[in-house]
Amino acid sequence: MSKFTRRAVLAGAAASAGVVAGRNWLQPRSDPGPGYPSVDSFAHVDGSVLDDASELNPTKIYKHVTLNSGLDTSYTNRLRAFLADAVGNDRPFCASTARHSMGGHALPDQGLALTLSQKWIEADQGNKTYRVTAGTRWSTIIAELDKIGFSPVVMQSNNDFGVGGTFSVNAHGWPAPFGPMGSTVRSFRLMRADGDVIKCSREDNKDLFSLVMGGYGLFGLITDLELDMVPNARLTPHYMHLRGPDLGKVFAETLAGDSAIQMAYGRLDVSLDRFFDDGLLITYRPTEDQSALPAAGSSGFVSHVSAALFRSQLGSDAAKRFRWWTETTLGPITVGETTRNSLMNEPAVTLSDGDATRTDILHEYFVPPDRFHEFVGHCQQVIPSSYQQLMNITVRYVAADKDSVLNYAAGPRIASVMLFSQEKTVRGEADMARMTHHLIERVLSLGGTYYLPYRPHATLEQFRRAYPRAEEFAARKREHDKGLTFRNRFWDNYVSKL
Ligand SMILES: Cc1cc2nc3c(=O)[nH]c(=O)nc-3n(C[C@H](O)[C@H](O)[C@H](O)COP(=O)(O)OP(=O)(O)OC[C@H]3O[C@@H](n4cnc5c(N)ncnc54)[C@H](O)[C@@H]3O)c2cc1C
Repeated sequence: MSKFTRRAVLAGAAASAGVVAGRNWLQPRSDPGPGYPSVDSFAHVDGSVLDDASELNPTKIYKHVTLNSGLDTSYTNRLRAFLADAVGNDRPFCASTARHSMGGHALPDQGLALTLSQKWIEADQGNKTYRVTAGTRWSTIIAELDKIGFSPVVMQSNNDFGVGGTFSVNAHGWPAPFGPMGSTVRSFRLMRADGDVIKCSREDNKDLFSLVMGGYGLFGLITDLELDMVPNARLTPHYMHLRGPDLGKVFAETLAGDSAIQMAYGRLDVSLDRFFDDGLLITYRPTEDQSALPAAGSSGFVSHVSAALFRSQLGSDAAKRFRWWTETTLGPITVGETTRNSLMNEPAVTLSDGDATRTDILHEYFVPPDRFHEFVGHCQQVIPSSYQQLMNITVRYVAADKDSVLNYAAGPRIASVMLFSQEKTVRGEADMARMTHHLIERVLSLGGTYYLPYRPHATLEQFRRAYPRAEEFAARKREHDKGLTFRNRFWDNYVSKL
């Protein structure tokens, strides 16, 4: 069996479509372009087993098909044919793009797995919106919007993900001070199990709009979406060193006090001897000169050097302390002006480890800003006493989500994204499950919640408590998808049991 490596999948950034001269529209493009990473790299050699980014979810499938087309009639017809195949053979159907979810959310057990790997985008500068096929990745979107001076509003911190997957987990990132990505979506089209396509927005099919946003593909197949865009900008960073427990409150206050801030994130020191004691808040504001913005790049070479440093932290407190020094002391004197698009144009390849015995596992918790100091205290008690190696924590602000049913931000939240390096052993997995269970309990006691696209270690009871509308979500799923065509392992592990 081949090992899935993120390096193989993510290398090879998008070659992009051109802007049609004299028009505000971007040229639709239906072929994937040279060097486009094949998502089939995720498949095991015999093609009958697929996995996701956790490398811990090998799942036997019935069929795997990849579709690259742009938005035209043949696209819709081919999607209908795949769905008819699944329905006719009584198989679950599940769409995905990068399969960077980690709990089988993009994997249909014995089902038809559709990978949408597209590059179709059309922008409307007048309305400040753009339309994309669901399988278009952020790398393509940034490349295209950059050419006309625009930028995505909210996306993850990496550019590898598909827009449909991003909406289906209702992801968030570090553009400030926004809510989750769903808040930036105006409408989308959804194909139901019978092949019918309907438009969903805050005006049309409102209930489905809220169920599909963060709904993990359980209500239908998203074919394309219409999203808001904002002007690109030249930004300059500002670093604030502070006590770790103070980071959440200061983060929220800083954003509330300065509407010029466009991007913001925090970090905490992960060295075991001073775990989470120290923090850093980095904010980006526009510079005075906004003329002649450079084309979107990414940190490239610097990222790869950082990746080596990042990996050296495994089991080494000295390396962790050194990395913290580079972030707090070297960063402020070496990192300069950049653009909003360049900041968002970072592939996840920089995190790749290449170690077959370990895997990177993400966790994410959301707490109210004024409870963040308690969250830090809980982490200090739970994480260092586990077997897990915490390599990094990034802290973000998420404004309240007013739309989705499976809502992780009922009010403003401080999001803590933690990257652990986990041993691929029974011991490693059992310890991760135990630690996750404790962290979730503590976060729930603070009025917070955990993020759903990662490992399925929460108990059903924890899922129910963290997402108070989970039962309603399950009931509506059964109403809207009577044949239970749209299924994945998130359905199997959780929603089907409600
Ligand atoms: C390295 C890394 C960094 C990350 N950073 C962030 C971050 O900064 N912020 C954040 O919020 N999250 C982050 N995540 C989580 C990430 O946003 C989710 O895993 C997301 O699902 C990734 O998009 P994808 O294309 O891989 O989706 P997939 O994993 O392919 O799919 C996710 C879900 O969406 C459904 N889906 C996908 N396409 C469609 C469609 N066309 N129609 C209907 N349903 C569909 C799938 O069935 C599945 O349930 C990160 C994950 C990794 C591994």
